[in-house]
Amino acid sequence: MGAVESHARKANNKDAVRSTPPISISPSLTRIQQGIIACESCSRLRTYCKGIGETKRKAYRDQTYWARPVPGFGDPRARVLILGLAPGAHGANRTGRPFTGDGSGDFMYPVLHETGFANQSKGIHRDDGLKLRHAWIASVVRCAPPGDKPSPQEIRNCAVHLTAELSELNQLRVGVCLGKIAFDGYMAYLLAQGIIQRKSAYRFAHAAHYVLPNGKHLLCSYHPSLRNTNTGRLNSAMFTRIFVQARKLAGLDG
Ligand code: SF4
Repeated sequence: MGAVESHARKANNKDAVRSTPPISISPSLTRIQQGIIACESCSRLRTYCKGIGETKRKAYRDQTYWARPVPGFGDPRARVLILGLAPGAHGANRTGRPFTGDGSGDFMYPVLHETGFANQSKGIHRDDGLKLRHAWIASVVRCAPPGDKPSPQEIRNCAVHLTAELSELNQLRVGVCLGKIAFDGYMAYLLAQGIIQRKSAYRFAHAAHYVLPNGKHLLCSYHPSLRNTNTGRLNSAMFTRIFVQARKLAGLDG
């Protein structure tokens, strides 16, 4: 994409996001989100998240950590699902909104802004005015896990929340899985729903694209963790290409 085209796209997208009427979350989706926030199914993760919220990181010691499960965030009419692994201990576990207040979000939101999915390039705290258009962000595990490593049982426990949220997002056309654990979680969802019959036909790789039997699309990306972005495994241009493709596959550019 040339610089002029890029700027034109950005300007149009920003205007489009700004002009979007307020999006109301339905009562049923609100109930699902409240159920997520109140969930205590995984004692190890609940204890860890509450503990992080009490000890805090020095830079945030004046803040009250969310320290609860983090529900999905975005546009209920989303055509694109962005699926991550789990809240960051001092990111979403602090702020209560996915990818908000940590390095992963600092990398991702500028790309979502550039590609027209977000009205601003920063996600700092829950009341910062950030709005998404045509995108919903969720994770396969809603509580921050120690070392970013949820157990298989914790991932299975949390699958119920993803299934519930997705049951309300009936305009989805594209799923973007950020990292292998998100990909595996989405595979488990697709199998459980009977959308795919076998996982063996699908393999995680950055920029892998599959058309699912129901005609919807699956896109894979490396996770925008500092581990990947600081080492150059994932850079901004690579990540932008994923979301430009997601827009096209979702029919948002026609
Ligand atoms: S990880 Fe999911 S299932 Fe486990 S306690 Fe948190 S919200 Fe509940």
